[in-house]
This record gives sequence, structure tokens and C-alpha cells, in this order.
Amino acid sequence: MITNPSPHDLGINHPSWRPNQYETYKTVHDLNSNGGGFIFAECPTGSGKSSIAAALGYDKNVLVVVHTLALLSQYRDNYDFSIIKGRQEYPCILSEKVNTWQSKFSLTPTAADCHFDPMHKCPVAVACPYIVAKDIATNSQKSACTYRYVGVSRPMQDRTGILVMDEAHDAVEELIKLNEFVITFKTIRRLRMPPFPLWEFGKDNRGAVMSDTTIATAQTWLRLALKKVKLDEYSKDVKTILRLGRFYKRLDENKWFLQIEKDKILFRALDAKSVAKEVFRSKSTVLLMSATIGDPKPLAKSLGIEEYETISTPHPIAKKYRRVHDLKMPSLSARNLKEHPEYYRQQAETIWNWISKFPPSWRGLIVTTSFEEVSCIGSSTPTIREAISPRRPWAFWLRRSTATAWRWKPARSRTPNTVGTSVSPWARWV
Ligand code: SF4
Repeated sequence: MITNPSPHDLGINHPSWRPNQYETYKTVHDLNSNGGGFIFAECPTGSGKSSIAAALGYDKNVLVVVHTLALLSQYRDNYDFSIIKGRQEYPCILSEKVNTWQSKFSLTPTAADCHFDPMHKCPVAVACPYIVAKDIATNSQKSACTYRYVGVSRPMQDRTGILVMDEAHDAVEELIKLNEFVITFKTIRRLRMPPFPLWEFGKDNRGAVMSDTTIATAQTWLRLALKKVKLDEYSKDVKTILRLGRFYKRLDENKWFLQIEKDKILFRALDAKSVAKEVFRSKSTVLLMSATIGDPKPLAKSLGIEEYETISTPHPIAKKYRRVHDLKMPSLSARNLKEHPEYYRQQAETIWNWISKFPPSWRGLIVTTSFEEVSCIGSSTPTIREAISPRRPWAFWLRRSTATAWRWKPARSRTPNTVGTSVSPWARWV
């Protein structure tokens, strides 16, 4: 191993490490080399979490799990990770099926509608875009997928090495969602499943926690249902049937809350431990990263983690520059804007005047709550647009399309003096 490597030495296209970035990387690397374990890392926004994961992938097997497809693409585009998305993101290429679906249902099937189980039985499996992407991601040293994907994918769960959980403070919620199962009475009738035996369970649609007996009853019902339904080549219910099968296997691994509503049945897991156990099963080291972990104890408990280490890095920007500033602007409510359409322009000017006070070497992102506001601030208020342009001619606005939005990253790498605007979910890219 190289002593004191630079980011370039570890395959990262950055000129230097950010404060504490190398130390965090090294702590996790050393932990893994010494037998592994769980480690919570509180890394503030701007500390370069993605680079830490990418550096670990230089000589270790690394799987990163993230919340969104946008973040997933970021790992692929900036750090050369092999990514795998959900089946619905890949087209089916079996021509007979595609033609039949298009003529019969006016729909284009995706890999989520695949009727082969296992998929490799398909005559064109070797060229199936989903299978190809899955095989590459499974065998790559640096892979990334979503929480949703890792929760149901055996190959990803079987990967050995380091697991990096991004935005780990939301991990429990994501993993619990994976254990949710909803089926409508309409679907039960359409699939000719046996009648649901627990329809009186829980009063007033409020639901209740299932006992071992009710779980066993639900399991019997699912077993009988799965015997009746079959994976039909041209059935639009393939996804539902596959979900039924997966849920059946999971039912006795957890405690469940069951709610019977007017039109549907909802099963919700009470904790995330069973999925977390599967996800952690083959990993030597699990790094749980977030800017807001706080006390790791409750999170560790919810995920079934008993022993762990912690690491906390100071914020890369001095506290005196991280204050919350109230610029005292009027609310941009629909009513206010109807009476005072000039408020948008005023707000843009106020923001710009405030930004101008900071050192010209700083970069930044104006975050709004909707794309409409991005458009309004960015294109219909010439004041701020003109004001930003002289500052640096390559400053630009992020607009609706992801393709355009991706230009933010290379632009901000070229120069620190860039100002963009985006809706809040994208602010994590900064
Ligand atoms: S494996 Fe399934 S999704 Fe892929 S091409 Fe064949 S039928 Fe379509």
C-alpha cells in the first residue's frame, strides 16, 4: 500500500484531499484490513463522502447503496462505479414479447415484466440489458445500487468486502419500506386468489400487530394463492406475482402490522432488522455515512448492530460562515405573488446582494422548493442572471432536465466561482 497516497494515487480525479477526508478513508481501510466491523461516520456536507467510498474501492471490493437514481449515476459518472438500477429501468428485448405487448396492451415491457424464472432461461438472456448490467455490477470491484435494490437482490447481498451506506440516517426507513406489501382486493379477484382469511383483522381500518397465529394464517393463504397463480408469458401481473413470492418468503422473518382497508390489504414490517441482516450478511465492513447521524445508538439498534466504532469529522467550513441568515424577504405565497408579481425579482436581487458579500472564490447553489421557482428565479428575473454572468461567464442555471443538471458537477470542478440553482433534493450534489 502506498504511504500517504494522493487522491490520484487511489484513482480519484481530485487534486488534493479535503480536510479529514484521507483520515476517514484510512480509518475504514484499516478497520477492514484488521478484521472489519461496523463504523458510523458523521461526515458533514462538503466533506467529500463519495470520494471516500471511491478511494476504498481502489484495492477493496466496495458496494455503495444510495437513495436515488441521480446519486447512483453520480457514482458511475464521477467515480467509475458499475451501477445497477431496478428492473423497470431496463427494456425487455425478447421480440415476440415486445411485439405482443405493444399490439395487445400498447405497452413496452421492461425487465420488471419478465416471465422467466430464473431469467437466464430466456432465449436472449445473454443480451438482456438488465442481466448484462446485473452481471457487471455483481462482478465489479466498485458497484453501486439503491437501498431498494440491495434489499431484494441476492447477488448484491452475497457480495463480500465493504458496504458503504450513504445517507445512513434514512437507512431504517428505506429498509422498512422494502418490507411493505400492499395488495388490492381487485387484484386478489383478478388473480383468482383464495379469499383473504383475515379480513376482519384490526378494527376501524386502524390495523394491529399480527400474532404468530395470524402470521401463520396469512402464510397459508399466500401459499395457496401462489399455487393458483402462474407466471404467464403475456400476463401483465408478473410483477405482482413475483412480489407475492418474495413476500411469502419474508413473512416469518419479521414482526408485522396488518391493516385492512376498504380496497386493499397492507402489511408493514415493524423493524428493519431482517432486511438489514441479509444486506450485512456477507460484508466484512459496513460504513454508515451521513452528515446527520447524531447519536448512533438508536440507529444501530434499529438495524440490529451491536458493536460498532464511530468517527466524526469537523465541518470543512468554519462555523462563523455557516450561520443561518434570514434575509427578511416577503413570503412567495400564491396570494402574495398575485398581488405583488415583482416579489420574484426582489427576491433574486436580495439573494444576489447577499451572495456578493462572500469571497469571490466561493461557489454555491441556490436551493428552491420547486422547478417552477428555479425557472422563475433563473430565467424570468434578468437581474440575477445578468449579475451572475459577469462574475464568471460560465456560471449557469440548472434546469429541468437531468442531462443539463449534470453539467453542474464538471463546471464546479473547473472553477470554485460558480453559482447554480436547483430544487432541494438535488442540493446534496453540492
Ligand atoms: S430475460 Fe426477460 S426481460 Fe430480459 S429479454 Fe428475456 S424476457 Fe425480456
